[in-house]
Amino acid sequence: MNKNTRFNLVYVLIAMSGVLLAHELWARSQAVAVIPYSLFQQLLAQGKVQEVVIDADSIQGVLKEPFKDTPYQGRSRFVTTQVRPELATTLEKYGVTFTGRVESPWLHTILSWVIPVVLFGAMWFWLARRVGGPGGPGAGLMSIGKSKAKVYVETGVAVRFVDVAGVDEAKAELEEVVSFLKDPKSYGRLGARMPKGVLLVGPPGTGKTLLARAVAGEAAVPFFSISGSEFVEMFVGVGAARVRDLFQQARLKAPCVIFIDELDALGRARGAYPGMGGHDEKEQTLNQLLAELDGFDPTTGIVLLGATNRPEVLDPALLRAGRFDRQVLVDRPDRIGRAQILAIHVKKVVLAPDLKVEEVAALTPGFTGADLANLVNEAALVATRRGADQVSAGDFTAAIERIVAGLEKKNRLLNPMERRVVAHHEMGHAIVAAAQPGCDPVHKISIIPRGIGALGYTIQRPTEDRYLMTREELGAKMAVLLGGRTAEEVIFGHLSTGASDDLSKVADIARSMVTRYAMARELGPLAYETEPNGFLAGIPQVPRRLYSEQTAREIDVAIRELVEAAQEQAHRILEDNRGLLEEGAKQLLAKETLADAELQALLRRVVMSTLEPSAASVKEA
Ligand code: ADP
Ligand code: MG
Ligand code: ZN
Repeated sequence: MNKNTRFNLVYVLIAMSGVLLAHELWARSQAVAVIPYSLFQQLLAQGKVQEVVIDADSIQGVLKEPFKDTPYQGRSRFVTTQVRPELATTLEKYGVTFTGRVESPWLHTILSWVIPVVLFGAMWFWLARRVGGPGGPGAGLMSIGKSKAKVYVETGVAVRFVDVAGVDEAKAELEEVVSFLKDPKSYGRLGARMPKGVLLVGPPGTGKTLLARAVAGEAAVPFFSISGSEFVEMFVGVGAARVRDLFQQARLKAPCVIFIDELDALGRARGAYPGMGGHDEKEQTLNQLLAELDGFDPTTGIVLLGATNRPEVLDPALLRAGRFDRQVLVDRPDRIGRAQILAIHVKKVVLAPDLKVEEVAALTPGFTGADLANLVNEAALVATRRGADQVSAGDFTAAIERIVAGLEKKNRLLNPMERRVVAHHEMGHAIVAAAQPGCDPVHKISIIPRGIGALGYTIQRPTEDRYLMTREELGAKMAVLLGGRTAEEVIFGHLSTGASDDLSKVADIARSMVTRYAMARELGPLAYETEPNGFLAGIPQVPRRLYSEQTAREIDVAIRELVEAAQEQAHRILEDNRGLLEEGAKQLLAKETLADAELQALLRRVVMSTLEPSAASVKEA
């Protein structure tokens, strides 16, 4: 509870006691004196009673003038209970005070019930309003169904693209969105359709939220933001109402940006966890979001941005054309990117003149933008603690050590030996690809860890869309996949666990070649397995084996032969290019990412595979 609320609570308590006291006094003056029947008889005898109302068991009356003495002082109304007349006479004879039992009159009863209830209700309402003011912790209490989004609408966002560094590809993609937002009307004059939704995909802390804000800032439009997890409400239908409300508000302010952070919390594939709580609610909310996405007119100038670090769990319906139909990768920065990000963040601290951000960048492989922002702050703290007036390189080193320890626990950083292995592995893929004519060229290799499981990556983009692949091409593809692991073996003489993903892909290809495409001659032109068809595709089926044990063994042998041939091919290529492999790995270690020009310069020197891939990678029967 904050200070403000506590302060106000004291007032509430004082006010409440005041009201209670007043009520008590008023009730006393109004109250009816409950008197013994004997007193009534006395009063009657003294002629003090003005009038009486007699009902079944009580007598209510009014005195000519109020009681003068205690305990009924100041009251003029009284009530007493009738006593059987003969008993009354007898009792009177002995001078006994006697009375009947009387219920309080209705007015008193009602007041004593109604007043506390009204008071309590008023207080609850008041408290709820106070605590639940805009953005307060209880905001949901009184305003269920009203979007919280209005709280997060931000006009005049100050973030610009220059504040985001190291994600040039993502920025380039978003430039287009900005120019659309600046002038939605004329953007469509040639009939071009703006993508409705752009999904920013990348690990946490790489600047997705920052980029989304920068889009709004650059285009100078309002920025509506809401987090997917906020839609997950306890009442069914509330999330859907929120989505509707959010889009309604946004339509009024178009052109504008709607940003849905943590889209995966909301857009998890429907039916992924049947029977789990909150499932219906999420589904409704997601359906409403899809309906809004379909419903809005792109020319109105609303752009929907989403962010997620788990694109694989998203409902495919969200990614369909006309919805989040463009995905932008916001990846961990490479060394140059890190230097640029550091340059942005060190502006806020006093730096020693001899400190070079490039040197700090070299020491921080795997750091995200958020890690780097944190690093600058930590370094400044270290410098403050030692009483310095400038942040030096030593402070950065100390801060890096501290942060790295934390990050390594999260398994995001590789130690130097691991980095060496990964560098050779990735370079191995690239060289085997380059050495085989007809292989898809490699565009980029990197040893920046990405996602779970992948320690580095090689991007091999096909030059054209392929629907048909020959047996030779599949063989070459397997050789490329095996190139990583083979390079590790050639250089270090041992194998590592880093190749498991490559290996399972190879196994898939080889199995399909044999059982589905009948590419192993000795097994004849027979498809032994069929592709799961049509609507059954997603459902795991009990495999039906339509061949004998004998054939199964032959299939295994054929698969193994294909893979071994590919492995031999990769091995030969890497032995031929050993010098290049080592040199490339060294460059990769230094730069972390090798793209286009640098990579092509290296790979141009590859000794081509001496054998035709057809002969080398696929052993003929
Ligand atoms: P995400 O949304 O991807 O998890 P954020 O955008 O919230 O990451 O980033 C958190 C903070 O880290 C930002 O506010 C910014 O200070 C810093 N940061 C992250 N990425 C970058 C970047 N590419 N350039 C500059 N600063 C960055
Ligand atoms: Mg974020
Ligand atoms: Zn690999």
